[in-house]
Amino acid sequence: MVRSQYDVIVVGGGIAGCFAAATAAAEGIDVVQLERKPREEGGFIACGDAIKSPRNPRNYPGPIDMDAIADDEAVLVDNNIEQIEWWDEQLDVRKVLPYEEGSNVVDRYEFGQRLLEQAADRGVEQHYDTVVHEVTQNDRVTGVKAIRDGEPVTYECDVLIDAAGAQSILQDMIDFEGLDTPTEPTFEVPHYTHFGSAYREIIETEEPVEYHNAIVGKPLEEMGYIWYFPRTPTVINVGLGFQMNKEPIPLTDRLRRDVENRPEFRGATVAEKFDRKDKLGSSIALRRPLDSMVAPGYLAAGGAAGTTHPITGKGIRGAAYSGYSAGRAAVQAIEDGDVSEDGLWEHNRWLYREHGEAAKLASWDAYNVAASSIDVNVLRAVTALLPETELQEIVGTSTKVDGLKSKALVGTGVLRNLVTEYRKGTFETLDVSRGELYEAILGVRKTRNYVSEYERQYEAYPADRSSFERWRSERNRIDRAFYDDLGLPPSDYKY
Ligand SMILES: Cc1cc2nc3c(=O)[nH]c(=O)nc-3n(C[C@H](O)[C@H](O)[C@H](O)COP(=O)(O)OP(=O)(O)OC[C@H]3O[C@@H](n4cnc5c(N)ncnc54)[C@H](O)[C@@H]3O)c2cc1C
Repeated sequence: MVRSQYDVIVVGGGIAGCFAAATAAAEGIDVVQLERKPREEGGFIACGDAIKSPRNPRNYPGPIDMDAIADDEAVLVDNNIEQIEWWDEQLDVRKVLPYEEGSNVVDRYEFGQRLLEQAADRGVEQHYDTVVHEVTQNDRVTGVKAIRDGEPVTYECDVLIDAAGAQSILQDMIDFEGLDTPTEPTFEVPHYTHFGSAYREIIETEEPVEYHNAIVGKPLEEMGYIWYFPRTPTVINVGLGFQMNKEPIPLTDRLRRDVENRPEFRGATVAEKFDRKDKLGSSIALRRPLDSMVAPGYLAAGGAAGTTHPITGKGIRGAAYSGYSAGRAAVQAIEDGDVSEDGLWEHNRWLYREHGEAAKLASWDAYNVAASSIDVNVLRAVTALLPETELQEIVGTSTKVDGLKSKALVGTGVLRNLVTEYRKGTFETLDVSRGELYEAILGVRKTRNYVSEYERQYEAYPADRSSFERWRSERNRIDRAFYDDLGLPPSDYKY
């Protein structure tokens, strides 16, 4: 058996893996990146391919040169997306929201390939065709065992960065209770209901689609959505996903049914990649980022840490900044000679307090909890009623609807939409009663208040490990108050 020693092992050749590996290697640290796929398939990943502005360094911090990637025409094939559209076609409802400037739909494979190349350029050693099947540990995580090109290999390290994606298999391999932590481990493995199952195809149409400047979402019968994200006017990423706390949907059949009924997709074909149809599915984190993303000798980033938007499922940007944070924290801990929970805490601190976007995602998860608690028809009725400004806030992570005046405008918008939708017969079509509607609108108001309360709590995230338990018990108190207010039975509590 081959045995190799590195400062840092990164498992995963996705976005989080590349950002983590490049960040650590750029500081002169010895980094190996392990990826189960072959080199030419690196970056070939199930995704809707919609990304937030690649040129914004807050979205993509660290040594990866995102300007070069954004300038690369093989990645940003079209550069044309201006807005998000929400269509509830049965109800004749269409909402149009602006998309963050510079945001786009990329060729995800080319994007992944460029990231891997840049990581290699920063000095990362990359081992493809390498499947990790065991994590080694004593009082800390010490490395992994893998099969590389059919041969067993043991890798040893000071810090293992888990960038193996949503439902990371590494987390099932580690005995977190067996690691040396002052009290209970702060790291908790997420439950499967915190994930979604999603599937996409790349299809090529005969004619340009009308909505070539928009990413489009539509409701599914279970909580989730179908999307059409145009990479170019004739190359469309179509897909769908649902959360695993709902009844499963046969994803491929459901998507086919939808696509076959659309006139703009008549004659369309599924694109090919590596001599097969370009169709992929995967799981997706639909929860708040983990309370703690560290354990002795171990850091989690990207899908493995839950840094995905809990409503939209967008996680490219979260994978990038959390990967950067993991690489940075690993270097610091190794330099300090302390890879304990405490020594690696900087990863949590930076994400929750300094960068802050993890705190936003965690707070916004309240909208996921509230939406999961009501019937999908009630949810569609509420979506029809809410003005675009409020919807934009829910699918983003910034509070635009602040102050009494804007709240009053939202109220007026709801009333105006109520009249329109009432006249159209929307509530009859959905079989939603006035009482249900009233309760649900009230629920949105309550949820917004809890989002603010969560935000205040996450702003106070502990700067070091010592006050974590106190902080978490206060956050858990907010959870319970929220669930009570929503009238959830304990069996439906998300956490
Ligand atoms: C269908 C779908 C559509 C999506 N659409 C969007 C979207 O439009 N926009 C957006 O921002 N986000 C979207 N997301 C979410 C986004 O794709 C993820 O959040 C993001 O890819 C997470 O990146 P990551 O690097 O953490 O993990 P991944 O991209 O999943 O990478 C993990 C890597 O680890 C490797 N790996 C796993 N286990 C092992 C092992 N045991 N040994 C070796 N290697 C291993 C995998 O092969 C993979 O390459 C979507 C997700 C899905 C599933």
